[in-house]
Amino acid sequence: MDEEVSTISNQATGGQSGSDLPSSAHAAAQKSTEPSSSDGPKGRGSASEPHFGLPLEVFFWTVEQSPVAISITDPRANIVYANAAFEAVTGYDRFKLLGSNQSVLSDQRTPSIVYESLWSSLLRQRPWKGKLVNRRSDNSPYLAELTVAPVTDEQSNPRYFLGMHRDVTEQHVLEQAVRNQKALIDSLLDSAPMWFVAVDEKGQVALSNAPYRAAATRFREGDLAQVFVRALCGADSARFAQLREKKSPLEPREIAIPFEGEANARRVELVGQWLDENDSSADAFFRRGGQRYFLVFGTDVTSLREQQERVAGNALRELISEEERVLELQEVLNAAMFRFELPLNLLNVALRSAERRGHDQQSFETLQQAVREAVAEGQDLLERLRHSVPEIPESPLEEIDLSELVREVLKLSTARLMAEDILVDVNLPNLPTLRARRGQLRVLFKELIDNAIEAMGKSIERGIYVEAKVDAGKLVFSISDTGPGIPETLHFKVFEPFFSRTLHKRDGAGMGLSRVQNIVTDHRGTVYVDPNYRKGCRIKLELPLDSPD
Ligand code: FAD
Repeated sequence: MDEEVSTISNQATGGQSGSDLPSSAHAAAQKSTEPSSSDGPKGRGSASEPHFGLPLEVFFWTVEQSPVAISITDPRANIVYANAAFEAVTGYDRFKLLGSNQSVLSDQRTPSIVYESLWSSLLRQRPWKGKLVNRRSDNSPYLAELTVAPVTDEQSNPRYFLGMHRDVTEQHVLEQAVRNQKALIDSLLDSAPMWFVAVDEKGQVALSNAPYRAAATRFREGDLAQVFVRALCGADSARFAQLREKKSPLEPREIAIPFEGEANARRVELVGQWLDENDSSADAFFRRGGQRYFLVFGTDVTSLREQQERVAGNALRELISEEERVLELQEVLNAAMFRFELPLNLLNVALRSAERRGHDQQSFETLQQAVREAVAEGQDLLERLRHSVPEIPESPLEEIDLSELVREVLKLSTARLMAEDILVDVNLPNLPTLRARRGQLRVLFKELIDNAIEAMGKSIERGIYVEAKVDAGKLVFSISDTGPGIPETLHFKVFEPFFSRTLHKRDGAGMGLSRVQNIVTDHRGTVYVDPNYRKGCRIKLELPLDSPD
């Protein structure tokens, strides 16, 4: 808050006596207008002698015109002189102030210890420097940076006190703003959920936040900041200097960092950035320059990565088991087809030989034998196929919001609907919940929506309309498309297994609507093609609302 300053030359003003200093100084100034050389040693002399080759009044003019507020007091701090700047800074008429104590400027908020320190220095004939709160004549406060010093005569007797002060309020406001800003930035950095460290050009840590410091103390394999720098810029220090010079942008990197007491290394994502700081030293005042820092932000992504790996692992597992199931089915069906070929060939051969020979007894017996073998083989095969049909665990019955489920299924087809430029209109207002098996209903609606998309083909009007209503204790749900529709003769056949009008890759075997039929039956409902709909195809489902339990 305050300090003693080492030395102030108190000789140059000479030893004016008493409290009439301003008038005698004026008199001195008026008497000696011609500069004359000093006889005495340089820098010392009596009041009447010129100093440094300058007339004495020059010293008075200098003090009088100084832009610093200067006052001279008697040993009891009563003001005997104040310059023009003093008047400007304090607002007091300096001539009216003569004889008043310097304490006229004092503000109650300056702690008394400051004054005690000031006086203790002065009484030991030592100068003092410090900051205190002063009040102007209009009672407004300002922060004064004050230097006081004793003024002694030629015999080193204390005669006066010199006071010099300037208003440093603005500077203080700026300094305080910088300090506040720094405190804010520090607390923001400390509370950020990431590690932050700034490295100077010598690779030394210049600034860091609390999370980084905590991490650095748990890292036992060297300097953590250096590990970060090497990860982002490479191990070569020349390269670091080169990147630094060019302020090259750096790719984010992810590295593994082992910490003491932790079994697995932590995964940290690093981002690096350059920051130029202006040089605040005096010799850089008129030239550009300063330090370039390398800022590193590190985010601990260990749990995020673990989660991502878990999700990816699950998805892969599902994919593999799905593939395995498909492969298994493929094998069974291939084997079945192979085994069906044999009796078919036998039948074929027998049929041809019967045709060649006419209807004699032997060819009839051969044919009979072939049919018998084919039937036996077919039955055996059917039995095996029956055993190979995969069993799907029955999902539990639950209350289902049908409109939510339909939207969820539609979301799966969004990309396809957009690519095919198909408009979907869903009208499912305030439906009651349906007690059903969620997984099965998902498959059902997916099947119907996929069918509708496929049916659209090159139709000009491209729309799918989904609607539902409650009618006589049933939920009547319909999905209509603007495709070519299904001929009336096929309205029942399309629900048969393996019936397909277009053997498309998606399902291959025309099992889609058969599956829909099974699911609807499982829910005690009915499904049919609406015979009254002529603009395309409309599939209607009727599902009873009373609980299937
Ligand atoms: P005061 O009673 O005046 O002083 C408080 C304490 O200071 C006392 O406890 C005592 O220990 C000590 N003290 C006061 N006067 C003397 C003395 N003559 N000898 C020994 N000890 C003493 N003050 C400001 O607030 N603003 C200024 O800009 C300022 N400029 C000054 C310039 C000069 C050249 C000098 C000599 C003093 C200056 N002072 C200034 C100090 C001022 O004289 C008062 O001491 C101060 O203002 C406190 O005043 P006060 O009435 O609150 O308490």
